[in-house]
Amino acid sequence: MDAQYLAKRKPAPQTLADICERRPALASVLTIFIPLYTAREELRESLQPLVSPLPELSEPNAEFLANGVPLLANAGFDWIDAAFKKAAHDILPQLEAVEGLREDLKTFAEGLEKGTLIPPKLTQTYLSSDAKTLATMLENHAQSTAVGAFLTQQILGPVLQAARMKSVEPDLQTWRQGYCPVCGSFPSVGCLSRPDPDQSEFLKGGGGHKYLHCSLCGHDWRFRRGACPGCSNEDPGAIEYMRAKESPWERVELCRKCNTYVGALDLRETTESPDLDAAAIGLMHLDLLAAAEGLRPLAPSLWNTFD
Ligand SMILES: [Zn+2]
Ligand SMILES: [Zn+2]
Repeated sequence: MDAQYLAKRKPAPQTLADICERRPALASVLTIFIPLYTAREELRESLQPLVSPLPELSEPNAEFLANGVPLLANAGFDWIDAAFKKAAHDILPQLEAVEGLREDLKTFAEGLEKGTLIPPKLTQTYLSSDAKTLATMLENHAQSTAVGAFLTQQILGPVLQAARMKSVEPDLQTWRQGYCPVCGSFPSVGCLSRPDPDQSEFLKGGGGHKYLHCSLCGHDWRFRRGACPGCSNEDPGAIEYMRAKESPWERVELCRKCNTYVGALDLRETTESPDLDAAAIGLMHLDLLAAAEGLRPLAPSLWNTFD
């Protein structure tokens, strides 16, 4: 679905603008993110000279895949330094509009400049889910590990997406986990596919394969429809839904066993082909409902974490 969908989808800034129009109550929050998503979109192109094809993708390690180990889990990232710094230079200023981040943006940028934050090490630690080492690494560069991890994620995302664009798209059909086979991150959103993006007369018939969209590297992978990506629970009725009446194609899929949820779009119910990362922020009204139920987002971010 990757190539087909990417060719057809709307750019992220346009997706956000559409959501603001459709849901004016979210506009004041969402417009803040339009410059950020514009920068992310531009970076995927402008980073091309700074990234190389990823050997981990062109020759996927079958043993890793069989054991549920993401392909980049043990990768080296010596190549990432210049790309990471360029992305930080373009991304960090776009986050100044977010309340309470100004000081963190400064100290994070200084860390990169002074060499106390080292992109290859930071990337490796972030992707290895070694929370303790990550916390130590980010200690003097952000007010909390969560904020430091958020900034890392915002910078690293476009870099990995650019590297993926340059790499062979591996065949990962055997992957059965709820986290990304490429980078190990949880999905920001899922979707049910249309049978053929060009044939709207088939709308509502056929299709319906479930894909999860990686919150970091943007890879989309097939997943079992009735299963929870958080805990793999696939008992009958494991997945419950919450949706708003006015847009039934947008929903949140939740699991009471592990108390997590992930947003989902039923693309069969709409002719829209939104950018999935941007569409995930547009589900903020459902994030609020989920938070009120005591559920945790599988991929926490600034806009779905409410204290
Ligand atoms: Zn990923
Ligand atoms: Zn679960």
